[in-house]
Amino acid sequence: MLSFWERQSFLDYDYIIIGGGIVGLSTAISIREINPKGTIAILERDTFPSGASTKNAGFACFGSLTEILNDMDLMSSSEVTDLVEFRWKGLELLRKRLGDKEIGFKNHGGYELLFEDDLNALQSMEKVNALLKPLFNQPIYQERKDLIAKFCFSASKVKSLIYNPLESQIDTGKMMKNLEALAQQLKIKIFTNCEVQTFNDGSDGVEVLIKGDVTFKAKKLAICSNAFTKKLLPETDLVPGRGVVLVTKPIENLPFKGTFHYQEGYYYFRNFKDRVIFGGGRNLDLKGEESTEFEIKELILERLKSDLSEVILPNTHFEVDYAWAGIMAFGKTKQPIVKKHSQNIVLGVRLGGMGVAIGSKVGERLAAMVFE
Ligand SMILES: Cc1cc2nc3c(=O)[nH]c(=O)nc-3n(C[C@H](O)[C@H](O)[C@H](O)COP(=O)(O)OP(=O)(O)OC[C@H]3O[C@@H](n4cnc5c(N)ncnc54)[C@H](O)[C@@H]3O)c2cc1C
Repeated sequence: MLSFWERQSFLDYDYIIIGGGIVGLSTAISIREINPKGTIAILERDTFPSGASTKNAGFACFGSLTEILNDMDLMSSSEVTDLVEFRWKGLELLRKRLGDKEIGFKNHGGYELLFEDDLNALQSMEKVNALLKPLFNQPIYQERKDLIAKFCFSASKVKSLIYNPLESQIDTGKMMKNLEALAQQLKIKIFTNCEVQTFNDGSDGVEVLIKGDVTFKAKKLAICSNAFTKKLLPETDLVPGRGVVLVTKPIENLPFKGTFHYQEGYYYFRNFKDRVIFGGGRNLDLKGEESTEFEIKELILERLKSDLSEVILPNTHFEVDYAWAGIMAFGKTKQPIVKKHSQNIVLGVRLGGMGVAIGSKVGERLAAMVFE
């Protein structure tokens, strides 16, 4: 039951954004940059943003060599470079907006582990370096086999390492907390525990109905609900994809620092201070992991643990502290869906495994569409 005051002051906005992840927050901030006076509200269904933005492993990356080679099989060269550039520019915008300290940005470099079956990727390394040279003005990928021993990886399994000096890591929690703080500072109202059930698109604006029979109104609506969008727009062309991540307890004399990937980015690990954060394994059951449930399958957790002890930390004592799951959204291509759904509604979803990198830019594009 709503009071007169609630009806007067809480329900009407110029702009409403569904979803408080990196895309929803970035869209709201970019709208504010264009319109300093408009009223803006974000409706987030959970206590925290609960999809991928607070659940990822905190990589500030734009693609490993084998990922890019795989992309080159599916896309044209210019599409591949456009996507890499979009990721790089997205990271630049995030860093500029919040500051490196506020996102815990650390440039320790990134590495791809190559196993016996991956070694042929080395033959294409110079081709990819040449393709990306106009973007970075330097060769991005370099072989650093010499570091396998220093990092104490399994020498029988890891046959080479490819170093990328521009890859970095962030503190995901700090980044999201500060992005929220910036939004609040810009007078963007964030409602949590506000699950949108449906919306009605009218000629003079949009009605947005949330759980508990409350109806918000907006002149313009941005839908940034990523993997959960089918509940609102069932025809959206995306599938959810669950990502499982674990963190170890602190490890004495951890032998490496940086971000690491293998198998086309299906596995990824990094240090966080003296802990290891390790995620992946979705490829073990791609169909089964097309889920919006925050659940951890034994098959995947066991594989992460066995790779930790057999490949990553073969001679180092470690204990797994705990694990969690996050939900991403994928499509046939790696491009996100960023489009006008109607005159009053824009849609920015299907961020794939690269939303930390491209989320800020997607928000910028969506905001521009709101004013078209
Ligand atoms: C394990 C893992 C590893 C990753 N690794 C990387 C990486 O290395 N590099 C990289 O760039 N990216 C990575 N990502 C991807 C990145 O985290 C996502 O692409 C990005 O966070 C997506 O942001 P988003 O705002 O679109 O979606 P989300 O963060 O999922 O936000 C959507 C929000 O909408 C809310 N919502 C949904 N439905 C409703 C509704 N009906 N009403 C109200 N609110 C709703 C959800 O609760 C959620 O908070 C990874 C993700 C995971 C899970």
